[in-house]
Amino acid sequence: MTVSAVALVTDVVRDGAAIVGYGFNSNGRYAQGCLLRERFIKRLLDTSPTELLDSSGSNLDPERAWAIMMRNEKPGGHGERSVAVGVLDMAIWDAAAKIEGVPLFRLVAKRNGRTPASRVFVYAAGGYYTSEPDVQALKEEVRKYTDQGFTVVKMKIGGDSLSADLRRIEAALSALPTGCQLAVDANGRFDLDLALRYARELAHYNLYWYEEPGDPLDYDLIATVAREYGGAIATGENLFSCQDARNLVRYGGLRPTLDWLQMDCALSYGLVEYQRTLRMLHDHGWSASRCIPHGGHQMSLNIAAGLGLGGNETYPGLFQPFGGFADGTTVQGGYVEMPDLPGIGFEGKSKLYSLLKSIHQ
Ligand code: MG
Repeated sequence: MTVSAVALVTDVVRDGAAIVGYGFNSNGRYAQGCLLRERFIKRLLDTSPTELLDSSGSNLDPERAWAIMMRNEKPGGHGERSVAVGVLDMAIWDAAAKIEGVPLFRLVAKRNGRTPASRVFVYAAGGYYTSEPDVQALKEEVRKYTDQGFTVVKMKIGGDSLSADLRRIEAALSALPTGCQLAVDANGRFDLDLALRYARELAHYNLYWYEEPGDPLDYDLIATVAREYGGAIATGENLFSCQDARNLVRYGGLRPTLDWLQMDCALSYGLVEYQRTLRMLHDHGWSASRCIPHGGHQMSLNIAAGLGLGGNETYPGLFQPFGGFADGTTVQGGYVEMPDLPGIGFEGKSKLYSLLKSIHQ
């Protein structure tokens, strides 16, 4: 996997230095350098600076910037484009919150008339396949996460036979302390028949969720699995627009009191679009608390705290330095405390911050 990272250098000076916003695309995907350079950065730079400002004239307006980036783009065609816009949207929100002098989660809460949460539920995503299947190593990994304070651990399925996966699942479950739960992620690889065969077996285990059983755009498959499987389903990380998410809740048969939505703003046009998605979800009877974004980055952590999401993914130790939270963040009972750093908080993650600084210094 590769990543695009940007530094948005403003002419606002604080303590003798220009305020800089940073953004990058989500973990577990690919960089968008060409689209950024050819279309989206160019449109922002070609715009009169005053067109990017809010009505106070003293800060960036992320919605205006978004509309400028999307000038002349046709409806549909989401995917790589939505990732590139998400990169820049992250940098714009980081700069806007720094100019305001507040953490992003406080800024978005204020803009939406909400009280921000001081802590956010996080779960540990791991349990990847290794070249030599080893249930002992999987058990040790699960135990490592719960020792770190996580209460929900996610592992991959679908990379081996059903019977081998059931052995892995039972090994992972045997390593979980009482009160902790396991989630499984098929990464969209099953056809309907196999998704249902897995569902029938998974139903025995009281899992936290069964993630992406089939192709993320096969809403009929998802609806059929939802009808047959009594437990919770999670999906949405591969939906890259509000329109795609609307189709999921219209046609995916998901249950607003049971299932989970995982759209990741850093893949899907950023926070400006994510707020549209939350409004759309509300109109379709879904609470923001049913959203636990994919990606394990600080942007979604801020959104979770600011807009009342159900939590956030994290991959302990993986996708460094982009994955994870501020240095010294500890997980207690499955929750992390929000740091009080202006912007998204990249400055509190030293290895990430030194890499981001190198873009413009
Ligand atoms: Mg996944």
